[in-house]
Amino acid sequence: MDAGYFKNLACGHCGRKGLMRLLAEYSERDVETLKSPCGYLVKESPRPWGVGYCLSLCLSCERPTLTRIDWHEDCAPGDYAYTVLYPREGSILKYLPGRAGELYLAALKAGEAGRCNFAGLLAGALDFICTSCGASGNSLLEKIEDLAEKGKIPERLASLAGRLALLKGSACFDEGRFAEEEAAVLKSLCEAVLEYLYRAPALVERVAAGIAGLKAKGREISSRT
Ligand SMILES: [Zn+2]
Repeated sequence: MDAGYFKNLACGHCGRKGLMRLLAEYSERDVETLKSPCGYLVKESPRPWGVGYCLSLCLSCERPTLTRIDWHEDCAPGDYAYTVLYPREGSILKYLPGRAGELYLAALKAGEAGRCNFAGLLAGALDFICTSCGASGNSLLEKIEDLAEKGKIPERLASLAGRLALLKGSACFDEGRFAEEEAAVLKSLCEAVLEYLYRAPALVERVAAGIAGLKAKGREISSRT
């Protein structure tokens, strides 16, 4: 495996490429076993291809990614097949554009460090995200309810958000001193909202791109309507 593969690695969390620090790597070459007609091993012949695994740490979001690399001597490292094994589903971070991603990442880091301003940062990030997705309202809760009214997130999610004390009334996020349990529920709420606002539309677009690909090949099933 050519050492140049390294700059082709992408972070499985934030999606950034070329910012990975190598923690560990392993590579092996496929071997063809040649046997005589009666089944005895004659020799093992190394093949010009193989598989590698790389554990790397992102210098941007500071999270680890495990990547499988299927390599071939005749291919440039840029043409190897890279499969992210961990994180499995891919972090929502890579769907969040610019400032939204930065704010959400800062909140997650505060949570991992056990800082007491975690809930405040999370609420601030969610507030920014709701606004950038077209929500109107004077408070975060109003913005969440507005998104539900516009059909961008389920009504039930908005009504559950209304039961969180830290989203009710004029709770001051700057103090950032909320019960840990409530902060954990706010994080779950945040993840659910982000799934509807970012990952679900991206998955729909992937289906649309797949259909467009079938259409281009003339294999689209004709519509009944
Ligand atoms: Zn990253």
